[in-house]
Amino acid sequence: MPSGDGLVLRIRPPLGRLTQAQGHGIAELAARYSHPLLDLTSRANLQLRGIAEADYPALLAGLQALGLIDTDINAESRRNLLVSPFWEAGDGTPALARLLVEALGQPIAPTLPAKFGFALDCGPTPVLRGCSADIRLERHAQGFLVYANGSTRGMAASAECAIERAMELAHWFITAGGASFGRGRMAALVAQTPVPAHMASTPVPATHAACPPWGLVPQGCVVGFEFGQMPVDTLRALSALSPLRLTPWRSVLVEGAQSVPALPTLITHVDDVRLRVSACTGAPGCTQAAAPTRDLAHALAPLVPPSHRLHVSGCRKGCAHPDAALTLVATPTGFDLVQHGTAASPPDARDLNQAAIAAHLKQLAHAPHL
Ligand code: SF4
Repeated sequence: MPSGDGLVLRIRPPLGRLTQAQGHGIAELAARYSHPLLDLTSRANLQLRGIAEADYPALLAGLQALGLIDTDINAESRRNLLVSPFWEAGDGTPALARLLVEALGQPIAPTLPAKFGFALDCGPTPVLRGCSADIRLERHAQGFLVYANGSTRGMAASAECAIERAMELAHWFITAGGASFGRGRMAALVAQTPVPAHMASTPVPATHAACPPWGLVPQGCVVGFEFGQMPVDTLRALSALSPLRLTPWRSVLVEGAQSVPALPTLITHVDDVRLRVSACTGAPGCTQAAAPTRDLAHALAPLVPPSHRLHVSGCRKGCAHPDAALTLVATPTGFDLVQHGTAASPPDARDLNQAAIAAHLKQLAHAPHL
């Protein structure tokens, strides 16, 4: 898709995993054809930006050679599944993912809205409940639990039947009127129309909201990057170590790593001040932005109190706005500050410059309840 600084290209790796050859290959292609910072997305995809129209065919051919292009566009757009990065060898997750992709590619598969997605959350405990998905599959005493997002009950299923049950739910979504003009989400349907009793025989167990882990975990090492942007050289270096699993928290799990990779700029700890700020693309990458966003967010990060999150938005549209306590919105005359709202909320202060914002954050550090 076009953007302010050239084309943006999104790669949706199978299983959210890049083999070492794919990671290395993408790094080579990005170094040649795109901006040197690669965006990780909240759908565990990888985005290259700043691509010239003239380079697009060669880039596409390179990705095809790496096995990262689906045979047809429908297959790619239907393959909207998020896989927990914490799967273990032998736990059946890759096989389940392949079966689901196969089922979604069948001619009898329902035509689902573009944003409709599946979460394969089959690690020891569910970690994807905070991530957008419409049909969820989780591990359960009887094998798997398959349920509609927004419902408190689902169907227990064996590994052999789990995908069949998931497709049954997808068909129900369509026949119950969940989709209209290519739009619609499961939670909205479930709020109006309860899931049929035979698809809701088993309660969904409550779990604590999972905080995304950083650093060493049993499956390897989770590393992050400022603003979820991975430098090409870092992708190259990490891919030399092992395959990489992309996470929906805009980080990467270095598969099987037993120590933190010795590379500069990696985020490996939850207390890293860079995790307290986020920013949309801003200028010049987005043509709608009134100002650059990331330089300001970077400068302000050390001033944000640990209990707060600050988001800097290039305009009032507020793309990918997280649940931030503070939002700065760029305007032609400075930055507006919104407390506990969205980028479109009425501002609490207008036309601030960096010094005024810094003063506000320092005040907040002494009165964090504000
Ligand atoms: S919030 Fe505005 S400036 Fe930021 S990426 Fe979206 S449209 Fe562009």
